[in-house]
Amino acid sequence: MSILVFVESAEGQIKKTSLEAVAYAHALGSPVTAIALGAVDQGALEALGKYGAQKVLHASDARLNEGVIQAYTSVLVKAMQDENADILVLANSSLGTPVAARVAIKTGASLATNVTDLPETSSGFVVKRSIYTGKAFAKVELKNQKKVIALKKNAAEAKEVGSNVTVTPYAVTLSDADFAVKILSSEKATGEVLLPEANIVVSGGRGMKGAEHWGILEELAKTLHAATGCSKPVSDMGWRPHHEHVGQTGVKVAPQLYIAVGISGAIQHLAGVNSSKYIVVINKDADAPFFKAADYGIVGDAFDVVPKLTEALKAA
Ligand code: FAD
Repeated sequence: MSILVFVESAEGQIKKTSLEAVAYAHALGSPVTAIALGAVDQGALEALGKYGAQKVLHASDARLNEGVIQAYTSVLVKAMQDENADILVLANSSLGTPVAARVAIKTGASLATNVTDLPETSSGFVVKRSIYTGKAFAKVELKNQKKVIALKKNAAEAKEVGSNVTVTPYAVTLSDADFAVKILSSEKATGEVLLPEANIVVSGGRGMKGAEHWGILEELAKTLHAATGCSKPVSDMGWRPHHEHVGQTGVKVAPQLYIAVGISGAIQHLAGVNSSKYIVVINKDADAPFFKAADYGIVGDAFDVVPKLTEALKAA
């Protein structure tokens, strides 16, 4: 029995969440095969060995460069058979989760998404899941022989445990049905650091008053090597692009540090940020609900506080 890990990539590099998935699979104890789809740098693939993959498969068919969920499902179902894998581990991402559900149906596997810990195996195979947008946990037993585990961001540490491995090309046979859903256009996220992957996020709300004031947040983000995010009304009003909208109906982030500037802290916004390790809130209203969820808070005007904070960080 082996474990298959589907690793996602962006611009040729393996995503951090996928490195965490490889490390998690390694900690499960069985031989780990990682599989990457589409264009990925050879060096990045070989380096998967450092995180615990004994074998790396690469399906480099150019049709897999776009994340077409049906095609990815077909490849992963076949790879599970070829590798005699009982477990598939992948990232609980906007791509990983729908793929996980489809692979589980096609292979008759038990599925757990949002998994936060290694399983307890003393009686059965019991995993812990984050539920209710991070407000509670549930333990579920995966009873079927085949299992699909979608791992929540930061649930495992992507630490180096081995060395580079040789990459094996993986030939795929894909039909038109695999591409029945076509991606007609895709928009590249702006900013140097991608929001779902970021360790630090600087996020702005309606308190920023307008798109023209985002320069101070971008400067702070640049200083911290952070991604920029925003509340829903901000993206609805077109001050920021939609892919920066954080919350229940937007991107769910789990950075080490989330800095919320001029955001009130509505429950729908908190749903996207409550897995952050530390939350810093800057708001001029001392009664803003966000302060209740904050580890550190500054009551003050964003236009006064943020530039001073940036200067202090630059000087540090
Ligand atoms: P506001 O509520 O207007 O808050 C602005 C804050 O800025 C205030 O706290 C104010 O004190 C502060 N402020 C003002 N001026 C300054 C200043 N100069 N310096 C410092 N602070 C200042 N929202 C999301 O964000 N994400 C979601 O995914 C989401 N999904 C939703 C889904 C549904 C079904 C619904 C009904 C709503 C959803 N919302 C979502 C909207 C949510 O309910 C709130 O309306 C929204 O989060 C408020 O955005 P805000 O905090 O930027 O604005």
